[in-house]
Amino acid sequence: MLLRVDAVESYESKRLTMKPRAGTKKKSPSSVAAAQIIETALKEDCTVSELARLAQSDPAFALRVLAMVNSPAFALNRKVSSMSQAITLLGIRGLRNLALSLVAADLIPEGDIGSALLSACLRRALACRALATALNDRDPDIYFTSGLFLECGILVGADGQLTELSDIIQSPSISRVVRERAAGRDPHPISGAVLARDYLLPDETVEAIAKHHDPSIPESRVAAVAWVAERIAGVFEGGEVIQNSDIGRAAASKLGLSAQAADTIIRDLPDQVARAAEALQRDVGQQRDFESLMLDANIQLVQLNAQFHSMVRDLEAVISEKEILAEELRQANEKLQVVAATDSLTGLPNKRAFSENLTRELARSARHQEPLSLVVLDIDHFKKFNDNWGHTVGDAALRTVAQVLRSHLRAGDFPSRYGGEEFAIILPQTDRAGGVVVADRIRAALEATVIAGVQTPMRLTASFGLSTIETGKPRKSGADLFEQADSALYRAKRAGRNRVEVSNV
Ligand code: GH3
Ligand code: MG
Ligand code: MG
Repeated sequence: MLLRVDAVESYESKRLTMKPRAGTKKKSPSSVAAAQIIETALKEDCTVSELARLAQSDPAFALRVLAMVNSPAFALNRKVSSMSQAITLLGIRGLRNLALSLVAADLIPEGDIGSALLSACLRRALACRALATALNDRDPDIYFTSGLFLECGILVGADGQLTELSDIIQSPSISRVVRERAAGRDPHPISGAVLARDYLLPDETVEAIAKHHDPSIPESRVAAVAWVAERIAGVFEGGEVIQNSDIGRAAASKLGLSAQAADTIIRDLPDQVARAAEALQRDVGQQRDFESLMLDANIQLVQLNAQFHSMVRDLEAVISEKEILAEELRQANEKLQVVAATDSLTGLPNKRAFSENLTRELARSARHQEPLSLVVLDIDHFKKFNDNWGHTVGDAALRTVAQVLRSHLRAGDFPSRYGGEEFAIILPQTDRAGGVVVADRIRAALEATVIAGVQTPMRLTASFGLSTIETGKPRKSGADLFEQADSALYRAKRAGRNRVEVSNV
């Protein structure tokens, strides 16, 4: 298959121009000579002299070839001054390669975005050639050409306006096709293959371009190598260098290459791209080497790790703060419950706490078939007492009564301030006789107690009512029990106060 000049020109009018745009390039492109060289070099029976004649027919092209051959990319010991000398050195394939590189370079405008694209093209061409060399392939040339044109499809239809392509060109290799589709463009493997066919590039090259973004490695050799080269080149394109180099190595292993062999190709690539660009007299900016990219990636990883750790620390602080708050809330609730169950004046359990305790003790006495007594007491003539001595002294008297109750009861007994100057005492496991003993003991103690906290020594008495649930007798409700104790108390008042009355059996 041959590259025809007229085919190139017909394509040129349709989509691309091989001539540089005004102001974008200093030099004559020499594209016609380049195209003829490529065409001739592809012929089976091509001779060195025929090629030399062609190359020399365009002085601008000849000058560019000499500039390249004398550039560091070729690293020759001596200076090459004539075309025939250059062709002897390069060989037919070498010259064709060079011509193709010139064509590719001329296709791509200058500027930052153009440089990025040219780097990408050279990266793929050189990766292809390095892979073919590592695989001991006989003809690395065809690989170079295929690699060189892998990304050229990106330019199709752009009409030299690279700014609108900058997102695509500067995005990582793996996301370029997606971005092209998103922008409503043909994916570059398709447009590139069409372009290559129009240029009459070899069938293997067209196939390699068409398949270089396929999800799995193509079967034919050139396409497979180009597919791997795409992934090797991708290491240098778009931040994720650690993941990208894993992808590159994994791809190389599909060609039977070791990770070490892949790494060597990856490491050599930036320098080769820089030299090739220099040979083309194109500025492709600084080509960062693999080590420094990896170093950056690792630094980022360390920073990310540090960020992660500080996030975990923050989270732990939030969690422990939450735990502290929960504990504080639990303690506050506990206090609230105590407050809600306590009489603030005397510190005794209040009426609410009394009712809850009575319910519990009634159930327990029923369960264990045990007696339960309830004592209700009311201070005698307390109104008069208040009237005589004032409310403050009255309050002190109430606190003294509470203290007497606390100190004359055993653990398990439950005294409470039922209301005003009325107190109730639950006596578990206590029968009527026991209840009378307890009630009378408190009555006597109260009568003998001097009210604390006031200057004039004063005493008080109280009247008591007792009711009991006896073992083996019918059960009573809490309300009945209280009712009975209260009416016994009423009888104690009527009978002269300062005494204990027992509810009627
Ligand atoms: P009785 O012997 O018949 O029980 O006569 P009493 O005066 O004690 O009975 P009454 O029910 O007529 O009066 C109760 C008094 O208790 C009236 C009220 O001022 C007083 N009192 C109730 N609660 C408190 C309190 O918290 N502090 C003080 N200082 N007095 C209270
Ligand atoms: Mg009263
Ligand atoms: Mg009273």
